[in-house]
Amino acid sequence: MRAKIFLIITGLLIMTVGGYFVYSIFNSEEAKKVENNDDEVFKEKEDEEDNRILTSKGYEIVHENGAYYIDGYLIVNKTYPLEAGWFPRNTNKEITASTGICKDCLDVEVFEHWTRMKSDASALGLNIYISSAYRSIEYQRGLYAGFVRNRGQAGADNVSARPGHSEHHTALAFDLNCISDAFAATNEGKWVNDNAYLYGFIIRYPKGKTDETGYKYEPWHLRYVGLRLAKELYNNGDWISMEDYFGITSEYS
Ligand SMILES: [Zn+2]
Repeated sequence: MRAKIFLIITGLLIMTVGGYFVYSIFNSEEAKKVENNDDEVFKEKEDEEDNRILTSKGYEIVHENGAYYIDGYLIVNKTYPLEAGWFPRNTNKEITASTGICKDCLDVEVFEHWTRMKSDASALGLNIYISSAYRSIEYQRGLYAGFVRNRGQAGADNVSARPGHSEHHTALAFDLNCISDAFAATNEGKWVNDNAYLYGFIIRYPKGKTDETGYKYEPWHLRYVGLRLAKELYNNGDWISMEDYFGITSEYS
C-alpha cells in the first residue's frame, strides 16, 4: 500500500516537474520569437529612414500616384514631371481624363482662396481675372509639338513647358489678366505681388530667379501653396523661389 502511494506521488511529481520544464522551454522560445520580431521591425524602420530621398536642404521627396511631393507640396517643374494620364481630382468643376483645357477649373481649396482674393481686390477697385488655369498633359503635348515644329526644341523650351512639366496641369496654378510683362506695372499687378501671399498664393517665377526656377519672371503666374509657405516665400517682398526654399533643381534631364 505504502509502495503504491509512493509510486503515485513520485509519478505526480515527475509529471509536474516535467510539465513545467516543457512549459519553460516553449515559453522562452516564444519570448525569443517576439524579441526577434521586434528586432526586425526596428531594422525595417531604420532602412526606411536610410532609403528616404532628401533634397539638398533635407526635405523629403516622395513620388506618389504619378506626382512628386516635396515636404508634402506637389512640385512640377523641369526636373519633376507629372506622369502621363495624371489629372487633378478635387476641382470646382469636374475634370476628366479627356478634359483638354478649362479656363477656370481650380482645385476646390484654391478656388475658395482665389474667390476671396478676387473679391478683396474688387473692393479696392482692382479687376483681376483668370485668363488660363487648367491644361491637360495631352493638350500641352500638342501645344509644345507645334512650337518645336516652328522653332526647334531649344526655341520651344524658351516659351513653352514640355508635356507633364507645366504647373497648369495641377489646377493649383493660373495666369492672371493679360499674361504679359506689362501686368507687373499695373495697379492690379502691384497689388497681386504684395498681397497674394495673404491668400496662400505665390509668384511662382519671381524676378531674377530664372537660374533657380528655369523660367523667366512671370508676374501673372500664381501658384497656391497655402498661407504658411506663401508667407515664407513672400519674404517681406523679396520673393524666394520654391526651388531655392526646398533645395531642388529645375532642369530637363
Ligand atoms: Zn502660367
